[in-house]
Amino acid sequence: MTRISFFFMMASFMSCAQPSPQFETEQLLGKKEISLAGNGCQLLPQAADAFEQMKAAAKKEGIKIKAVSSFRSYQRQRAIWNRKYKANAKAGLSPQKNIQKIIQYSTIPGTSRHHWGTEIDIVDGAIPPEGDVLLTRKFHNSGPYEPLRKWLEAHAQDYGFICAYPDDSERPGFSYEPWHYSYAPLSRPLYKAYLKLDLKEALSDLDMEGSNHLDQAFLMAYRESHVKGINPVLK
Ligand SMILES: [Zn+2]
Repeated sequence: MTRISFFFMMASFMSCAQPSPQFETEQLLGKKEISLAGNGCQLLPQAADAFEQMKAAAKKEGIKIKAVSSFRSYQRQRAIWNRKYKANAKAGLSPQKNIQKIIQYSTIPGTSRHHWGTEIDIVDGAIPPEGDVLLTRKFHNSGPYEPLRKWLEAHAQDYGFICAYPDDSERPGFSYEPWHYSYAPLSRPLYKAYLKLDLKEALSDLDMEGSNHLDQAFLMAYRESHVKGINPVLK
């Protein structure tokens, strides 16, 4: 083998061994139509396959995993934000308090991990829903979803799913969400790409309720606390 052909062989081997995925900004912000799959949910096809395998395994142990939220577009996140903002404003909250309240659990449109098709909010579908299902107390203290939580904590990682916002007082940003799981093999490279975005520029055309109160300093602080305040296993 000549030195040159050896070089090309090694170069192509290296590029296969270390793929560097490229993501468009629009995809990272939930503004791109992406191919999704899933039975009762919308995830990237590889994540949807893993989710089905996890569901089947849980079913054998009497847990009926059900997705209540998966892929969310920018427009959908914007609608959620606007609904919450209007309700809080009606209840008399100042714009600053309003925003702080929303970002306990909900994201600014364009910053949700749900935009990526790798995230899923899970409950036990065998239990008839009563009111809000995504409440921490329902996953603890003999609540209806406690067996589901314990099963997920023991087994979800075997299928690539990791709790994105675990119960850790050191973790900044969103409150503890025992229901929110992330398909790590795909969300890790998406997260890395997201951190390379210039968030100020990417969100420069925010057109939602209260956006005139989100200045650049706020967005930079939010990036540090809320975007980066995830389970370290997902970084
Ligand atoms: Zn979620």
